[in-house]
Amino acid sequence: MNLERLENILHSEPKFRLKQARQTIFVDLISDWNQATNFPLAWREKLNEDCPLEIKAETLISQPGNSVKALIYLPDGLKIETVLLEHGAGRNTVCLSSQVGCPLGCLFCATGKTGFKRNLTALEIVEQAVYFARLLKKEGRQINNIVFMGMGEPFLNYDNVLGAIKILNDKDGLNIGARHISISTIGVISSLKKLAKEPLQINLALSLHAPADDLRSKLIPANKKYPLDAVMEELNNYLEQTGRRVMIEYLMIDKFNDDKEQALELATLLKKIQPPLFFVNLIAYNPTAGFRPSPAKRIFEFKKILRDQGVDVTERYRFGQDIKAACGQLAGNK
Ligand code: SF4
Repeated sequence: MNLERLENILHSEPKFRLKQARQTIFVDLISDWNQATNFPLAWREKLNEDCPLEIKAETLISQPGNSVKALIYLPDGLKIETVLLEHGAGRNTVCLSSQVGCPLGCLFCATGKTGFKRNLTALEIVEQAVYFARLLKKEGRQINNIVFMGMGEPFLNYDNVLGAIKILNDKDGLNIGARHISISTIGVISSLKKLAKEPLQINLALSLHAPADDLRSKLIPANKKYPLDAVMEELNNYLEQTGRRVMIEYLMIDKFNDDKEQALELATLLKKIQPPLFFVNLIAYNPTAGFRPSPAKRIFEFKKILRDQGVDVTERYRFGQDIKAACGQLAGNK
């Protein structure tokens, strides 16, 4: 799909044509312009030629079938990943990529190992959601939540991510409520500042993963540029300005960041978040080279210490290990 061309193709047509075209793509979820019967036949043929709606992708379904991963081929031949997570009771979350690869090179992350190719355009980001929206529509279902937790650091592609969110959120777009859209960041401070000023009710998640700078810098080299004190200070500014609760993500990595002292250290660090509008999400690690996931017993003990320290904490189920659902694990293997 190459929607970037749509505006150019329709620029000499009355304005309503572009609106109509976008509605057929994002609301009716057509995959062929011949289905856009409100367009004259000659236009449908031209659009099929110059702006085809086919999304070239390979899909993998996990067993027991609660996640589907798609490897999407972009017009320039690069590949990105997107994942559909099915939580039951009709809740479907799509995890979007914001970059091809990632420049931040986090040690635990398959995407970080592939290097950085380029930012995705807003429409390339939306295309990932459209892919799964079409798939779900065939079964009478729809996307309920969007998370920016796929390939790339969304805050390093801020304008295009926000552009994509506007289309995802638009009632003439995919009509997904802002409160059902989340961005996950390692803490890019300039973008945190910008997001605090956006008139959007989207959610923020901070990938923390370690309670102190030395350990965090081993996992996330960009922590040297965005150290914990600076990130915490900016997070407090964000919370003061928005009043919106933030999720603190913490990957549970066996014998690396999951012992009792580290749980206590984390609880102490989190006391710096004021106002205390946050909760911690412990994430079972999807193993990539070099690290192992924490055993359930260690996760249980870590969680108990945080709870005893008054920290609100949840645990995220691990999806799709068999289809390499951690970000970048599929594209990196191709
Ligand atoms: S975890 Fe996120 S920020 Fe870090 S390398 Fe992977 S994609 Fe980039």
